[in-house]
Amino acid sequence: MDKTYRSIFKWGDKREEKLEKGVVELVREEFQYTDQDFQKRILYGDELVNLAQKPTISSEIQQQLRDISGKENVRDDDFSRASHAFGKFYGELLDLRKGEIAHPPDLVITPRNEDEIVKILDICQQENIAVTPVGALSSVTRGVETPRGGISLDLTKYLNKIIKINESDTSVQVEPGVFGPVLEKALNDKGYTCGHFPQSFEYSTVGGWVAARGAGQASTGYGKIDDLVLALRIVTPVGIIETKDFPATAEAWDLNKIFIGSEGTLGVITSVTLKIRKYRPENSAFASFVFRDFQSATQSMRKIMQAGFGFPHLFRLSDPVETATAFKIKGFDNSFSDKFLKMRGYRPGERCLMFVSIEGDKEYTHLMKKKIKKIARKSGAFYSGRKPVKEWLEQRYESAYLRDPLMDIGVMTDTVETSVSWDNLLNLWSEVRNYLESRRNTHVMAHISHVYENGANLYFTFLSPMKQGGEKADYLEYHHGLIDAIHNNGGSLSHHHGIGRALAPWMEGEMGKTAMGLFQAVKDHLDPKGIMNPGNMLGLR
Ligand SMILES: Cc1cc2nc3c(=O)[nH]c(=O)nc-3n(C[C@H](O)[C@H](O)[C@H](O)COP(=O)(O)OP(=O)(O)OC[C@H]3O[C@@H](n4cnc5c(N)ncnc54)[C@H](O)[C@@H]3O)c2cc1C
Repeated sequence: MDKTYRSIFKWGDKREEKLEKGVVELVREEFQYTDQDFQKRILYGDELVNLAQKPTISSEIQQQLRDISGKENVRDDDFSRASHAFGKFYGELLDLRKGEIAHPPDLVITPRNEDEIVKILDICQQENIAVTPVGALSSVTRGVETPRGGISLDLTKYLNKIIKINESDTSVQVEPGVFGPVLEKALNDKGYTCGHFPQSFEYSTVGGWVAARGAGQASTGYGKIDDLVLALRIVTPVGIIETKDFPATAEAWDLNKIFIGSEGTLGVITSVTLKIRKYRPENSAFASFVFRDFQSATQSMRKIMQAGFGFPHLFRLSDPVETATAFKIKGFDNSFSDKFLKMRGYRPGERCLMFVSIEGDKEYTHLMKKKIKKIARKSGAFYSGRKPVKEWLEQRYESAYLRDPLMDIGVMTDTVETSVSWDNLLNLWSEVRNYLESRRNTHVMAHISHVYENGANLYFTFLSPMKQGGEKADYLEYHHGLIDAIHNNGGSLSHHHGIGRALAPWMEGEMGKTAMGLFQAVKDHLDPKGIMNPGNMLGLR
């Protein structure tokens, strides 16, 4: 697989995943797949990378860039350029599978330090060359594409150090290219945790978390990345901005918030200071519940969040189809427990599974669990113990590996997430479901995984056979209708995946002209020549 398109789009480590039995059964039943269908290999992408376009940056400028960062850190070979042309948006994966890369970057530069970044941006400003800062390229919203070519500035090779763990302030300062596991290990070794565990945790960076404004699986307790950032340092085309790690300030408006979610359009984040929390896994409490229906389960979630006794860390609720799918895949159907649940009125197709974990001080976690159980039981929930949550946590990053083998057999699969207030949650859930299910032969699942006093996110997953021959146009049309359905029914465009180019066309409708003018004014001030991640990012010029 070396240097093939497949080696670029394949998620995570490069081992090839087999679909587990339960998933095969699901595809067989839902899409009437035959044994032959499972032998197919659709757009496998095992050809060697070969780009038609050669770099367009003049050899003189290339030499200047090599003088700054060293010859070995300025790459113009086809594979380096191809592997920095896309993130993990479904349409991008299709393009890579077909070997279609219309706009690769001209060069991939791995700067060795911040000084080099300053010098590179100076040259790019003078020469009007586009610069796209990138971490692990796990963006699912077309945030790392290079429609104007230019430079993909990869921060993972050198800017990947943990600068300082401050135990008195409980904070950590890191360079942007640190990957999740490296950060978490360094913190765990000292008795702390970063508390930020996106599903892409193993293959995403702190800079990407901040720039794309992400959320981890324990965000209900620890907060989104927005809540975790204390200070930032950013190299913009017109100078450096550094914020300080004050616990709070009233110094005009919040500079950090301008850059959190800026997706590389304003500058390069070169340092991030995050809050950290004590790591005491031995104190954690876990609970799972089965509810009779989604309505009573969401009510219960809301009551728990608004009760005033604190928030669980992991707080997750699968809707009836996702619950039924999980039960089926795990071989739960027709087991003794399944029959028992049915007898008690927890019926397949209606029942919903909730997972809770609480971290922190031992007495606190136990008290919280008691209180949560009380509220859940009042809403008719059945307490199903701690084991299902612990098992889920052990394989929490695994489902990301399903997408490639599903696409190999011609199954389109994607996820979209949104944020919504409690009073509109059920309406949005059913409207978006209706839209997704209006496509023939489509399996639609949803869950809530980030919960607030005022509302929650909804995360939709869909699977449907690809329209072979017209895979991308078919997907884009369906995706367009999906975002329309979310937007028209009062959901946010994104809760934690960011906007990128995929959702940019909806930004003005969502924000309004005046607000977009404000974003553009900030952009024009910091990046007057429009070189930072250009090309309809965030709906900006
Ligand atoms: C399987 C899978 C699961 C995912 N699950 C989650 C999840 O649970 N939660 C979640 O929040 N997201 C999730 N994502 C989305 C993605 O992983 C996040 O957006 C992540 O934060 C991106 O990090 P990255 O290092 O890969 O950044 P990249 O993809 O490389 O970049 C993302 C954006 O940030 C900009 N950027 C990156 N580094 C810098 C920097 N130093 N300075 C300025 N701009 C920069 C880029 O220009 C781009 O616009 C998932 C993605 C995949 C593929």
